[in-house]
Amino acid sequence: MKSVVRPVLLAALAAGLAPAAHADLKPANVARQKAQIDAGLDKAYPHLDALYKDIHAHPELAFQETATAAKLAKEMRELGFEVTEHVGRTGIVAIYKNGPGPTVMVRTELDALPMEEKTGLPYASHATQMWQGKPSPVAHSCGHDIHMAAWVGAAQQLVAMKSQWHGTLMFIGQPAEEAIGGARAMIADGLFTRFPKPAIGFAQHVGPAPAGTISYRAGVNSSSADGFEITFKGRGAHGSRPQLSIDPVMEAARFTVDLQSVVSREKDPAAFGVAGVGAIQAGSAGNIIPDQAVVRGTIRSYDPQVRAKLKAGLVRTAKAVAEMAAAPEPVVNFDEGASAVVNDAAITARTAPVFKAAFGPKAIEAPGPGSASEDYSEYIIAGVPSLFWGLGGVDPKVFADYRARGEEPPGNHTPQFAPAPQPAIRTGVEAMTLAVLNVLGK
Ligand SMILES: [Zn+2]
Ligand SMILES: [Zn+2]
Repeated sequence: MKSVVRPVLLAALAAGLAPAAHADLKPANVARQKAQIDAGLDKAYPHLDALYKDIHAHPELAFQETATAAKLAKEMRELGFEVTEHVGRTGIVAIYKNGPGPTVMVRTELDALPMEEKTGLPYASHATQMWQGKPSPVAHSCGHDIHMAAWVGAAQQLVAMKSQWHGTLMFIGQPAEEAIGGARAMIADGLFTRFPKPAIGFAQHVGPAPAGTISYRAGVNSSSADGFEITFKGRGAHGSRPQLSIDPVMEAARFTVDLQSVVSREKDPAAFGVAGVGAIQAGSAGNIIPDQAVVRGTIRSYDPQVRAKLKAGLVRTAKAVAEMAAAPEPVVNFDEGASAVVNDAAITARTAPVFKAAFGPKAIEAPGPGSASEDYSEYIIAGVPSLFWGLGGVDPKVFADYRARGEEPPGNHTPQFAPAPQPAIRTGVEAMTLAVLNVLGK
């Protein structure tokens, strides 16, 4: 225990946080604040519910979130925040100054996914937008709409409780989390130079755990992600005359299978790492051998060395399957990628007792990091020590029914992903408000 406590305190001092504030934490205070937030939420929830359902029914893709950003900007201006729009193209920054004290950043994402929603909910999305040159259905199947509603809800509660804290709130609405690039775009557009540099950052993500639960961990919280796109080149021919072709579909198929030998034979099996293909596009008819095939996929890891090994193995495998086919060298591109989110030990140690006091056994210390990825890591790399936690989204009764059948409820990025709005948003508001009060409280 001691060996943990000392670095935590040193880190807290380094981050400019007075460890004395720690001693103020009394479970009774947290319970009182939570009761106050709950009373506020009883009044505010119908508005948050309407906002959530409106955003859910009108999702927007990466860097196209103009209506979404405008809705949030309006909400925050009405609360008294000073709002700057178009930061990092479609992002927003909302500042609320309440006396001397550190700046705390609270981040939500704005974007949705290029996929069709199949929840059958009355407020389900029927939206379409352009995606990679073609119209695509759009859905909030990652739950960023839950985060937005909780973000507005936390801002409301913090403003209502402003006599209990001092400092500056910096609420940011980030574009393009799914496409990766929104956090970088905001930072490049002066997020930490045109606005106060936050001493602490918080964010949360809903997932297929029972609503009402919070999960957190110090250190690595989510994986690094690298998207790849490979264009295999061949020579087109009539399907009946394969001898005249160089078949790029064969190259794509071999690559898809052989990539798994990089994962299973080159990487340490004890180290987390995923490499897989999610999209293959080639050809137009069964009797035409096309002249190219495009393969897209993702690489996930926690460790930078594993990340480098998987990327190198992927490139080698792509080149080798092309050579086997006597095809030209394929074109391999990686996207900008996202690094692993690493939670700050001191902030985690400072916030965990608040979550425990507020949520009891529903506040869970996660045994290991998740395999999803987040470009929230960019803010941490830019020098904002942070805590990013998980928020349960599934109605506890529904969750129990799935488990009783030995199944998992539909998760993020599935067409059936359908968080239960009320318990998820309320818990998100409570957790975020309490976390901020704990670091800015008087
Ligand atoms: Zn997502
Ligand atoms: Zn997400």
